[in-house]
Amino acid sequence: MVHPSELTQIGTNSNALKITRRKTRSVRVGDLIIGSESHISTQSMCATKTQDIDATVRQIKLLQEHGADIIRVAIDSRKDVEALAEIRKQVTARLVVDLQESYKLAKSVAPYVQKIRYNPGHLYHHEKNVPVHEKVAYIVGVAREHDLALRIGVNFGSLDPALAGEEADPLEVALNSAREHSGYLEELGFTNYVISLKSSDPNDVMDINLRAAEMFPEIPLHLGVTEAGMLPMGEIKTRIAFENLLLKGIGDTVRVSLTLPHAEKYKEIEVAKAIIADVHAGRFRSVPRFEQQGLNIISCPSCSRVENEAFVELAQKVREMTQEFADRHLTIAVMGCRVNGPGETDDADLGLWCAPSHVNLKRRGELVGQFSYDEIVSRLKQEIDSLTTSS
Ligand code: SF4
Repeated sequence: MVHPSELTQIGTNSNALKITRRKTRSVRVGDLIIGSESHISTQSMCATKTQDIDATVRQIKLLQEHGADIIRVAIDSRKDVEALAEIRKQVTARLVVDLQESYKLAKSVAPYVQKIRYNPGHLYHHEKNVPVHEKVAYIVGVAREHDLALRIGVNFGSLDPALAGEEADPLEVALNSAREHSGYLEELGFTNYVISLKSSDPNDVMDINLRAAEMFPEIPLHLGVTEAGMLPMGEIKTRIAFENLLLKGIGDTVRVSLTLPHAEKYKEIEVAKAIIADVHAGRFRSVPRFEQQGLNIISCPSCSRVENEAFVELAQKVREMTQEFADRHLTIAVMGCRVNGPGETDDADLGLWCAPSHVNLKRRGELVGQFSYDEIVSRLKQEIDSLTTSS
């Protein structure tokens, strides 16, 4: 975590800053309220395989002990739902399920959770003949029946293909996607929802949430810098975005996304709470925007969908190997699976995304090849050498 001596105190004394929260609706997630009438809540997500019930229960309890208000679990199949039913019996935490493509699983998971997150960019892949607004109506029907909250979770790494074009500005596409889906929910008379607009670039997170705060004046906002990576840089990127937004009263619930071994996942909550406490106490890093001076590594926090358990170790090896290139102006993305892997690696100079028995390597959006977990780091080094000698 960032050491207190690295923080800049603002104000004349250590009294708490008066931060006026943006006035929002109250969204109910079980017995928790998200919105300006409540504290800024913290969230995390299990990185364990959902079907590994013991490991997932352990992780949920660990996160809860560290003060997580809401804990997310990924569900992609009927077997995941069966595991969730068993997990529910063993934990008391408020759970949110992350639905990706299988929107119909909403009905099966609803009895076990307090909230459902769906990603507008993923509602196209299943049942392509069903209009998206009908899929949203289905999810809303389930949420109503079970008194659940929803999150419209827009992510720059997996934008709605119907809105995104080659030349389209991702920020505009993301905002339009959120506006479209907020419109669907409002037309259906459903108001118990929050919106998130996430990117791996903290500047984008700042810019888009400033716009979102104006565009959706009453709706609580969930903040997050996705794929912020490993400590300490993952915390620094997140701090820059959160400090700038929270200071303006924007942000009602937060998730810090860090690449961590399972046993250390609670650090996401520790870091989130530290940032919130520092903002309220008037302690800030004096960086108004993120100006990357050298190598920028983005890596996803991993979750149940990770294609190979070697992912976290791979991310750490990439960080160690690249230390000698710290002053090069390159972005390297290291991603755990195909969900955000293809999108994030398209935007990086060099990108890796994991498959079960190999790692895909891309160079500026073009696939270089597929390499084993043993050979990928040295292959990546060759590409860095070649990019930095040719530029
Ligand atoms: S990229 Fe895949 S493994 Fe990584 S957090 Fe996203 S869904 Fe999980």
